[in-house]
Amino acid sequence: MLTLDFHKTGRHFLQIPGPSPVPDRILQAISLPTIDHRGPEFGALGLKILSGIGRVFKTVHPVIIYPASGTGAWEAALSNTMSPGDHILLYETGHFATLWAHLARRLGLSVEVLQWGGTDVHLPGAPGWRHGVQADLIAQRLGADREHRIKAVCVVHNETSTGVTSDIHAVRKAIDSAKHPALLMVDSISGLASADYRHDEWGADVTVSGSQKGLMLPPGIAFNAISPRALEASKSARLPRSYWAWDAILESNQTGYWPYTPNTNLLYGLSEALEMLEAEGLNAVFARHQRWAAAVRSAVDAWGLPIQCADSKSYSPVLTGVILPPSVDADGVRKNILERFDMSLGAGLGKVKGRMFRIGHLGNNNDLTLLGTLAGCEMGLKMAGVKLAGSGVQAAMEHFSAPSHSGAVCGARADHRIACGV
Ligand code: PLP
Repeated sequence: MLTLDFHKTGRHFLQIPGPSPVPDRILQAISLPTIDHRGPEFGALGLKILSGIGRVFKTVHPVIIYPASGTGAWEAALSNTMSPGDHILLYETGHFATLWAHLARRLGLSVEVLQWGGTDVHLPGAPGWRHGVQADLIAQRLGADREHRIKAVCVVHNETSTGVTSDIHAVRKAIDSAKHPALLMVDSISGLASADYRHDEWGADVTVSGSQKGLMLPPGIAFNAISPRALEASKSARLPRSYWAWDAILESNQTGYWPYTPNTNLLYGLSEALEMLEAEGLNAVFARHQRWAAAVRSAVDAWGLPIQCADSKSYSPVLTGVILPPSVDADGVRKNILERFDMSLGAGLGKVKGRMFRIGHLGNNNDLTLLGTLAGCEMGLKMAGVKLAGSGVQAAMEHFSAPSHSGAVCGARADHRIACGV
């Protein structure tokens, strides 16, 4: 029998930017007995979650739910709408954007990458990985594409590798200002249910997401929210697809079912997560994340270290990237923090490996877990010999206890309405 002897006393601090900590209420829901996925109870569950998830994406159009990780949803978005050799424009804001480009090339698409062209003293090897999408660059490129060769514009809403969010509505306006028919594909895998996101209002054609971030579920569910234009495009798109094909899934979904065996127990969890988010209200969820993010940034500022996101208007409410002095190995700092304090922090990925670490502040956290997180970081940084300008923990405590920042005290607890007295 498997012995879970890797579990230490107390709760592990899972402070990576997803998978995020799963609330007990969701874990309990997932542990219920598996039911017949063709039976009547399942159909009712299916209809409930299919309508609930639309409210999270803020769409009145279909949302496809796959038993997959986010990468599957990337593939589904492209394989349902594109044809072999189609040209797409992808804006590189970080590691996940580059992985999406790589996947698109493997599918047989021609990928053109746009990127911020400036220089940067803190991350000279990856200057574009500190900024969000520059919508004007997209408008310029589309304006020059008079033959409309570009079939899709792909952008990441919340770049999980950098802690930078992008203005998706501005990208839609850029496409419209160029009078270009390209579809707008958005990865909001780590933005959804933590950062404000509006699929319909912002004019996204396909929004890709996953379960393991703001939805507070384990990994294993992926989503495609689709616009009528994307659905129309899927009728003539010729990339091969079967498992990912929207048409068969949409047909089964009409009665709450899937054309194959769905991940029943994770869907119990999704149903629970949707109830929790609706009870709290999405605006309160977004405000809670903004508050946590501001406290974490106040800590990083107090340490005197650069926040990876260089534009204050693009700060992520989900995670904060912390750049370390070039002489310090950020992976070594994370390893030490894991061994000494049982806390996982996000690694620097791809071009910024070893140069920075990421603090996740999303989902089922609260003020005190974040203060513990910052204390673990502060101790780890000091142990690594990083000279800190001041105490980040102190700065965050002041932030949290300031009357103007008190907010809801109870984070994502299931019984939050009782605890908050609302
Ligand atoms: N896109 C973003 C922004 C992500 O954060 C991730 C994973 O963290 C992915 C795509 C890939 O998703 P997955 O690892 O679930 O396949």
